[in-house]
Amino acid sequence: MIVMKFGGTSVANSDAVTRVISTVRGRLDEKPVVVVSALSKVTDLLYKISDEAARRNRSGAMELLGQLRSRHLDLAGELMPDDPVQCGTAKEKVNEICDALTSFVDAVCAVGELSPRSKAIIISNGEYLSSNVICCAMNASGIRTNYIDARRMIVTDDNYLKGDPDMDAISSRAPGVVLGAYEYADAVITQGFVSATAEGEPTVLGRGGSDYSASLIGMAIDATRIEIWTDVDGVRTADPRRVENTKCLDKISFEEAAEMAHFGAKVLHPLTIEPAVRKNIPIYVLNSMNPEGKGTAILQSSFIEDGVKSVSCKENILVINIFSTKMINTSGFLKKVFAIFSEFKVSVDLISTSEANISVTVDATQDITGVVSALSEFADVYVDSDKSQVSVIGKNIVNLKGLLEQTFAPLRDCKIYMISQGASYVNISFVVDRDTLTDVVRQIHKYLFEVRQS
Ligand code: ADP
Ligand code: ASP
Ligand code: MG
Repeated sequence: MIVMKFGGTSVANSDAVTRVISTVRGRLDEKPVVVVSALSKVTDLLYKISDEAARRNRSGAMELLGQLRSRHLDLAGELMPDDPVQCGTAKEKVNEICDALTSFVDAVCAVGELSPRSKAIIISNGEYLSSNVICCAMNASGIRTNYIDARRMIVTDDNYLKGDPDMDAISSRAPGVVLGAYEYADAVITQGFVSATAEGEPTVLGRGGSDYSASLIGMAIDATRIEIWTDVDGVRTADPRRVENTKCLDKISFEEAAEMAHFGAKVLHPLTIEPAVRKNIPIYVLNSMNPEGKGTAILQSSFIEDGVKSVSCKENILVINIFSTKMINTSGFLKKVFAIFSEFKVSVDLISTSEANISVTVDATQDITGVVSALSEFADVYVDSDKSQVSVIGKNIVNLKGLLEQTFAPLRDCKIYMISQGASYVNISFVVDRDTLTDVVRQIHKYLFEVRQS
């Protein structure tokens, strides 16, 4: 069996979905489990709907719900003009999901309060809409396709908006669910992103979480391959939206991919690699607009050469600077500091320390108010929000002679605030002023991938 995950742009409209169906058709002998995201921009729309509901702007929310419904009804109509039965089923499903969501949003508007639990319910509807319509379209095209509700397989804790998966529960549930659905079917389809607690309460895996769903399912069913179909030719040397002349990488290691994803490469959700590594399942990043392309293979490190693979960046970070003279010549200070990060579940990216100072970076989407107030009881704390983080990633880059010099050479006129080299030898990261970020990433990329290699 294989897992094929299609992201939002890969299912954005009827042309894109038609391409997806033909790509899946080419893989039927490998028994694909198809995992789909919401149509492009639909999850953003659902976030807006939940915001309007929380502000008790009922008419605003209803207007957006109307857009949601008509986009999916139109898609069903365009995909299945010659199959009134499947088209009718798809439209019925769309109306059923949108009716239920409308009543739910109505109730939220009435109360004017949006709990994380209610928000998770609202934002998971994009995947339910897309998977239902695409399931019918696959059946209409002659591929007998069975539908699976991912909540029967993907079990998380009760962190509603960023559920932490229970690997054991997923591993024990998914194989039975998938095999059962495969009876009398040529393919099965399910949703990315959505999940549930063991008691069945709806949760989601966090933004971009469909990649993670795909690798969790791949792990649980012992897939031979996990394919992540997206809108670029594979993993590239940098984000092509930010940097010119990026190159597609033929293959990278699990570790390199994990570091890239964790340090800002949006092409993969940061946690996608971990479940695949557990079972040593290769991941391929492929372009749904160019299904014949080779894409990027993500494999065990022994298949991968040493060398720089990419420059990633995280624009929205916070730098927390902790100053205390109590740190000098004492032990236990670091423990006290990091116990606080752990208590408030704030995860740290980079750390650097000096005699009386610790600086850490964290993703700006995290709420750090609890951490800052707890640290302030025994230290002076300053938070910088005008900085960004750049990471140069590649296997054993620490062994590459002159790499540091080459990385920093183009930055003579630029301020660098923290430098951190991961013990894994895969990553050198540093912090710069946010307003210089794009320039810095472009210059380093040019130096490492154009000047140095020419
Ligand atoms: P999907 O909807 O398919 O999940 P995403 O938008 O989440 O797609 O991810 C694909 C995008 O990731 C690309 O369009 C690209 O702009 C961005 N990206 C960031 N870094 C990289 C990189 N190193 N290689 C390829 N794409 C990257
Ligand atoms: N639809 C979700 C999002 O936009 C999950 C995903 O696409 O991976 O975040
Ligand atoms: Mg994505």
